[in-house]
Amino acid sequence: MGIAPNWRLRKQRYALIGEVCETCGNKIFPPRDVCPHCVEAAQTAFQFSGRGEVYSYATIYNPPAGFEEYAPYTVAIVKLEEGPMVTAQLTDVDPEEVAIGQPVEMVTRKIREDGPEGLITYGYKFRPAFVSHS
Ligand SMILES: [Zn+2]
Repeated sequence: MGIAPNWRLRKQRYALIGEVCETCGNKIFPPRDVCPHCVEAAQTAFQFSGRGEVYSYATIYNPPAGFEEYAPYTVAIVKLEEGPMVTAQLTDVDPEEVAIGQPVEMVTRKIREDGPEGLITYGYKFRPAFVSHS
C-alpha cells in the first residue's frame, strides 16, 4: 500500500479552494464553475481564508456503526467570512460549548489514516478561533 498516488489530491482537499466569479466578484464554494449569483462562468481558483463562524450545528451522540469511538462529535454549518457555507466536523471543542455565531477557523491537521472516509468526507475540520489580547 503506497501513499504517493493520493498525495496531490489530498493536498487539494486540505485547502479550502473554491472559485471567484470574474463578473460579479462572488466567492464560490464548493467549486461549481458557474456563479450562482449572476450565472456567468466562474473558473478562477480562489483560496478561502478558512475563517468563519458557526451558523448551525448538530452534535452526534449515536453515530453510524464504525464511528462509535468518535462520539459525541459536532458537525456544523460554517459561514465563511467570504460568504459561502460549508459543512464540516468541529474539533478541539466540547460539544456543550459550541454556540451559534462562534468564530472558527479551518484546521488541516493530519486526519487519522485508518479512519473510515465517512467521517472525513471534506478533508478538513474547524476549531474555535480565539482572539487573544493578552
Ligand atoms: Zn457572478
